[in-house]
Amino acid sequence: MNIQENLNHIKSTLPAQVTLVAVSKTKPISDLMEAYNTGQRIFGENKIQEMADKYAEMPKDIEWHMIGHVQRNKVKYMAEFVSLIHGVESFKLLKEINKQAKKHDRIIDCLLQIKIAEEDSKFGMSASDASALLQSDEFSELKNISIVGVMGMATFTKDMTQVESEFKFLKHTFTELKATNPKLKTISMGMSGDYQLAIDCGSTMVRVGSSIFGSRNYN
Ligand SMILES: *Cc1c(COP(=O)(O)O)cnc(C)c1O
Repeated sequence: MNIQENLNHIKSTLPAQVTLVAVSKTKPISDLMEAYNTGQRIFGENKIQEMADKYAEMPKDIEWHMIGHVQRNKVKYMAEFVSLIHGVESFKLLKEINKQAKKHDRIIDCLLQIKIAEEDSKFGMSASDASALLQSDEFSELKNISIVGVMGMATFTKDMTQVESEFKFLKHTFTELKATNPKLKTISMGMSGDYQLAIDCGSTMVRVGSSIFGSRNYN
């Protein structure tokens, strides 16, 4: 695996308006530094503890994105430094992020995770729950978070027609939410296997791991 070649190749295929999150979960610091030395400054992790450890060891001009499912009791370990939390799927979680952000005198950017896949195992809110949340009074009281867009994960399938319709649904949901929340700008969708399709469907942020760093070994 040549991380620098992989990264340069992927970056050369991305339209200018699409942000690349290099998903470095399970990978050692040496791999992340290879990407860093190619110019990559946005890294995505799915475990808060692992991200905090890497944050401590890596240069400080990196933007750290939390792309995994967030447990409320662990928000405090990333509130000081996280740049974007992709997986917000409840008001309770948002409230905790707001509370921890306030302690550090920060405003933390978040994406609402919308459930677009059929699989029950995938997290996320319905489009109407997201809309209700954004219009609620409780939400307007949270001063230390900013919802900047939506995130979704398509069904794990080879059926690209299905993946495409799920991506289109997320784009549609974004457009509807943006009509009343003009601040929204980000659609986080697309991974190694489907990021080109996601971009065709309107993605503005892709989360690519194995195509950069190689396949993961979870043992
Ligand atoms: C692991 C992960 C990715 C990256 O997956 P690859 O297939 O390795 O590109 C993207 N998004 C989320 C939420 C992930 O957990």
